Amino acid sequence: MAEFEIRRRRTRQVRVGSIAIGGGAPIVVQSMTNTDTADADATAKQAFELARAGSELVRVTVNTTEAAAAVARIRERLDTLGCDVPLVGDFHFNGHKLLAQNPDCARALSKYRINPGNVGRGTRHDEQFATMIEFACRNDKPVRIGVNWGSLDQELLTRLMDENARRAEPLDAEEVLREALIRSALESAARAEQLGLSGDRIILSCKVSGVQDLIAVYRDLAARCDYPLHLGLTEAGMGSKGIVASSAALAVLLQEGIGDTIRISLTPEPGGDRTREVLVAQEILQSMGIRSFAPAVIACPGCGRTTSTTFQELAANIQLFLRERMPLWRERFPGVESMRVAVMGCVVNGPGESKHADIGISLPGSGERAVAPVYVDGEKTVTLKGESIAEDFQKLVEEYVQSRYGEGARLRGSGEEKTKTIPIKAAD
Ligand code: SF4
Repeated sequence: MAEFEIRRRRTRQVRVGSIAIGGGAPIVVQSMTNTDTADADATAKQAFELARAGSELVRVTVNTTEAAAAVARIRERLDTLGCDVPLVGDFHFNGHKLLAQNPDCARALSKYRINPGNVGRGTRHDEQFATMIEFACRNDKPVRIGVNWGSLDQELLTRLMDENARRAEPLDAEEVLREALIRSALESAARAEQLGLSGDRIILSCKVSGVQDLIAVYRDLAARCDYPLHLGLTEAGMGSKGIVASSAALAVLLQEGIGDTIRISLTPEPGGDRTREVLVAQEILQSMGIRSFAPAVIACPGCGRTTSTTFQELAANIQLFLRERMPLWRERFPGVESMRVAVMGCVVNGPGESKHADIGISLPGSGERAVAPVYVDGEKTVTLKGESIAEDFQKLVEEYVQSRYGEGARLRGSGEEKTKTIPIKAAD
């Protein structure tokens, strides 16, 4: 099969705690809590769950004195749990005051998110923005200048609209709006540098909620600066709509080498699991061959040849089994995240797809003998039958992981070839 190559845009590198963003570092997955930050227990618990799911940065709202006061306690609790995920503080309107009044919060956070549209109006905007940058400099923290079209700097937009009206050939209003987003980010970054924040302490984002707008804005932004970029479709929505829209937008940009860290802004279902946004982000990167996070399950969609739900249940069980085992496997079996497991519904494509996978099972379709051949590294090794096919297959997967990615395999050097993904290069 032909090799694909993604040429990453060349950027500066920003360090956020132990995590590198941009400058050729792997694209970082991040997420955000939706607990009340003032509730340190609940927020630490959710941040831990997000980190355990694979979130490499976790952002928390810092909107009140109580929330700011809780941040250092949240950090301590995570440290006690052995979780060093960097915490990012999300500030709007009163960040300058909260950072001044809560030095422990300013120290405990690993990055400050500043929305230039939400730091005051007129001269207060400049003063309050400067105050936040001073705290970043004093505490040696990076910032993300995060513009959002739902809270765009209205004075800047009015200025650009007026300029546009005086042009011989005015741009349409959408183009002016996109330019305002980009200018807000770039002018704020330039101001932060003038105030003494080093350029390798700045990450930019310009989030919008439309797929085509996001692509247009980020292409332009990427061409006009060398700061690392945080990608995300804001207010992506619920369920499949949010996942599909985010995937469509991010895939185009990532394929063009744009984007150094991503977040999927899914609206959770009532009572839904917040970690879903982490899994979706990982799956976008993994399905594009950019990074591997967890073994992939290749499952056929089923058709009239599968009248029972056996293979759907097995595919779901295997997916769950792999996810649950990953925290342990990640530590013990480097390379396991690139494993491919096939769960196929019948003899039509089952044996072929199973042979292409590292380990695969071909279940019996309607009218076929009630047996399930298993293939390991392309060879048929055993045929399962009876009521315990699911459990037996899980045992085989566990054994395969230990033999393929365990210490013995690493000493033999056989684990290395399994970590291959699409080569990613920094652009010249
Ligand atoms: S592998 Fe068999 S069951 Fe699955 S979609 Fe193809 S024909 Fe249908």
